[in-house]
Amino acid sequence: MAEHTKCLIIGSGPAGYTAAIYASRAGLAPIMYQGPQPGGQLTITNDVENFPGYPEGIQGPVMMQDLEKQARRFGTDVRYGMVTSVDFSVSPKKVIVDDTQEILADAVIISTGASAKWLGLPSEQEFNGRGVSACAVCDGFFFRNQEVAIVGGGDTAAEEATYLANLCKKVHMIVRRDELRASQIMQKRVTSNPKIEMHWNSSTDEILGDDSGVTGVRIKNNVSGETTVLPVTGFFVAIGHKPNTDIFKGFLEMDEAGYIITEKGSSRTNIAGVFASGDAQDNIYRQAITAAGTGCMAALDAERWLAENELH
Ligand code: NAP
Repeated sequence: MAEHTKCLIIGSGPAGYTAAIYASRAGLAPIMYQGPQPGGQLTITNDVENFPGYPEGIQGPVMMQDLEKQARRFGTDVRYGMVTSVDFSVSPKKVIVDDTQEILADAVIISTGASAKWLGLPSEQEFNGRGVSACAVCDGFFFRNQEVAIVGGGDTAAEEATYLANLCKKVHMIVRRDELRASQIMQKRVTSNPKIEMHWNSSTDEILGDDSGVTGVRIKNNVSGETTVLPVTGFFVAIGHKPNTDIFKGFLEMDEAGYIITEKGSSRTNIAGVFASGDAQDNIYRQAITAAGTGCMAALDAERWLAENELH
């Protein structure tokens, strides 16, 4: 039998939990489905040094546990489960969880975040979990005192290269241009680290391996065409993220990359009663603090919309 709720929150990163804190304190008794990675991307990061209020920094997973506790404290019904399809053409909105459970929601707050992108090489898939990883913080430990490579030039790659350099014998950083996209402070941190070797203008040709897992990576210099084999046992991919919005396609307006389009200065989508927050709608800032801010906006927008429509 379908269950009815005034406010359904999909996803459990900083956006979802902040929406949950505001919505539950406003008496909306929200239900939250946490999705496949409860706590979201911050559960696979280490130190968060830029979230205001933590002068010494905080571990990502600890921060997410605290946010969950805070959301539960005000009555959010936090549940395991993944939303597998939606029908936003009806009112209340129909949402299916784990292909079986039907939820009817007056207002829906989307905070499904984004997921790591892959290079798309067959060898990357072949060795995934056997030396290939998209999360240095999760898997770096397995490569202690070994030689590893990381591909990407943004803040994530720089942060993960630094993290790996603390654990590993040597880190090769494979960057496709002759400069990093990362912030100045992170650039300085990687380029001045003696354990990190930069490979500029380089692309990944192939990940090499055998039954034991990854044994090397062949890279190609995009300028000279020269190929080199790096003798690594770990290969980390840190080339950005894709918004987790596929299930909303056909209902919500999105940009070409799949980020949900919201009305300027609000969390309103093109469907009345559906609000989007966090990385699912943010291709620019993508920070925990901005995600939390938009989660707050989504809860306030949802509360107003429910009141205007006499649903609350
Ligand atoms: P990003 O900023 O989009 O950077 C992606 C990097 O991967 C770029 O250097 C890009 O190269 C490279 N790349 C993309 N596709 C590639 C491919 N197919 N092959 C090789 N290289 C490829 O992603 P991000 O580093 O994940 O960061 C996302 C956002 O989160 C950013 O706004 C970042 O500032 C933020 N962030 C902040 C922190 C922090 O403040 N502590 C930590 C992590 C992330 P090009 O430069 O050539 O495009």
